[in-house]
Amino acid sequence: MLGSVVGTTKILGVMGFPVSHSLSPVMHNAAIAAMGLDYVYVPLPIAVEDLPTAIAGLKAVRSLQGFNLTIPHKVEVMSLLDEILPIAKAIGAVNTVKRVGDRWVGTNTDAAGFLEPLKQLNCDWSAKPAIVLGSGGAAKAVVAACLELGCPMIHVVGRDPKNLKKFHGTMTSQLRDYNLRVHPWTSIPHLLEVAGIVINATPIGMASDPHTPISEAEMALLPSQSIAYDLIYTPRPTKFLQMAAARGLTAIDGLEMLINQGAIALEFWLEQPVPIEIMRRSLTTALSR
Ligand code: NAP
Repeated sequence: MLGSVVGTTKILGVMGFPVSHSLSPVMHNAAIAAMGLDYVYVPLPIAVEDLPTAIAGLKAVRSLQGFNLTIPHKVEVMSLLDEILPIAKAIGAVNTVKRVGDRWVGTNTDAAGFLEPLKQLNCDWSAKPAIVLGSGGAAKAVVAACLELGCPMIHVVGRDPKNLKKFHGTMTSQLRDYNLRVHPWTSIPHLLEVAGIVINATPIGMASDPHTPISEAEMALLPSQSIAYDLIYTPRPTKFLQMAAARGLTAIDGLEMLINQGAIALEFWLEQPVPIEIMRRSLTTALSR
């Protein structure tokens, strides 16, 4: 249950299409309630063709303090904002926007959210080439994060050569000049043999999809010290992570990324520390229903 919405209540929200499945309202409203703030976080279903109208028009709604963006708006929103912070420029996608006076300022908290569980591992990342499966919006943040970690090579694997070329082209020159390579799906076995970390940034293996992004035989090719990271958080664990755990690999799912990108966004809007443990609990409760 939300706290009371009154005449002074400020609004935050998430723009996407569809957006009804989003767990962001659950975790943000839990944090807002715990902090005793006069805010509410709402879903904002906005179709692709309506995004320019929405971004311009919502500036007139003075109580709207900021919003998240999810599929399919993270890239398209960039040309509609007044300012984009360097981290979002480097990633090439915006997932968080804040009202600063009468300006919309965009940033990206996905890469930092993705990094959080990896920082706990105390690894030598310079010995861990990264294999990123998928070349969509989330893969962009993952690649930027792997660069920040210091992975010596970042291999992005995709099924569509045109999308892969576009992906490579939209990366910053820092990344393109760095050891970033794109590969067709058929290269997976050869790449896995040298992987330090393999990240599933595709929707393969979500609750509605019984498949895995790599086969059991391919999972067997991974070196024994490697890490398997799935951005998916429903189901928990995915079959991909079950296979990794059965092999004794470190397996990480997407829940911590979701929690941490949300906590960093809320801090960006409110400019104060936020109760991440309450956000975590609200999400695990919602997911266990
Ligand atoms: P997206 O922009 O739609 O990209 C999906 C990527 O997966 C595309 O490269 C697509 O290939 C590829 N793909 C889809 N189905 C495939 C298949 N059957 N075989 C091979 N490749 C396939 O989506 P996204 O925003 O990057 O999200 C990707 C996943 O990450 C989703 O499951 C999402 O829920 C998850 N995610 C989690 C978090 C978190 O906080 N944990 C945050 C963001 C995203 P094409 O380019 O050929 O279409």
